[in-house]
Amino acid sequence: QAAEFAKLKDTPSVTADGQAFELHLNAGLLVELKRLEETGAAGIGLFRTEFQFMVADTLPMVEEQTTLYSAVMDACGSRPAVFRTLDLGGDKVTASAPAMREPNPALGWRAIRMGLDRPGLLRLQLRALIRAAAGRRLDVLFPMIAAPWEFFAACDMLEAEIERARKHGHQLPESWHAGLMLETPGMAFAIEEALPRADFVAVGANDLMQYFFAADRLNARVSDRYDILSPPALRLFRHVQQACAAQNVPVSICGETASKPLEAAVLLALGYSKLSMAASSIAPVRTLLNDVDVKKLGAWLASRLDQPGRTLRTGLLEAGDDAGL
Ligand code: PEP
Ligand code: MG
Repeated sequence: QAAEFAKLKDTPSVTADGQAFELHLNAGLLVELKRLEETGAAGIGLFRTEFQFMVADTLPMVEEQTTLYSAVMDACGSRPAVFRTLDLGGDKVTASAPAMREPNPALGWRAIRMGLDRPGLLRLQLRALIRAAAGRRLDVLFPMIAAPWEFFAACDMLEAEIERARKHGHQLPESWHAGLMLETPGMAFAIEEALPRADFVAVGANDLMQYFFAADRLNARVSDRYDILSPPALRLFRHVQQACAAQNVPVSICGETASKPLEAAVLLALGYSKLSMAASSIAPVRTLLNDVDVKKLGAWLASRLDQPGRTLRTGLLEAGDDAGL
């Protein structure tokens, strides 16, 4: 696999019909950062900060968090890195935080809900991020936003921490950017309201599809109920892309759902030119996208997206060339 990565990493990120795209890396641990070079990824599209908490026996202190974030930024150099604030709960558990017993963890007290209800931890994390980014760019992404007010409250916390750093005479980041992670269907239909305060949007396709289809992302028995290439799911993605484009807010997709080559091509055709994925997906996705005629694929999709029917996968594979593939 390493040899395959090596061959492809310098291939330009352009489709057969000349449209540029960006492939970024999902990561959560320092050891994964060497994949940046190996894959030729454009940056870190999603740094899952909870991993540091999940592998530790005790809660990482501000200093430890700062050291990690700083090392990630160093490894990225001029490439951007998006830090997602703690996304604990649901499928992400940690030994260092009290275990919670909830009947439906995926629908429970998790991610930004914890961050807003007990703001201590999130505040310290923002402090660590601001410190690590002294003099450089900071991109912060808030997970599991289910309503605009949650995003506004999180943005207020970021602003408050910036003010605090300023008062203490710390060097501030050169610039800071707040991102909304869109992972719930309800938020997809309230996105217009939140966009004025969003510097960017990242669609968390794993969770978004889990909630859209009411099918557990980790349960193999229901994985065939979870089809990103079905017209209703694609209409949701189209709606979000169009809403973001209308307000000029950059939008990307992360999540393993978008890291399959065919799915990635379809998302690109819907206007998502930035995709973030696991390192092992970058080479296969790049290989297909380099060969795709995105305009042709877009035209093929346009006539089918609003029609009833099940997955478009079979149709796409049969159409091949006629769908730009
Ligand atoms: C997602 O939900 O799509 C996502 C990228 O976040 P995670 O997989 O960490 O929940
Ligand atoms: Mg998620």
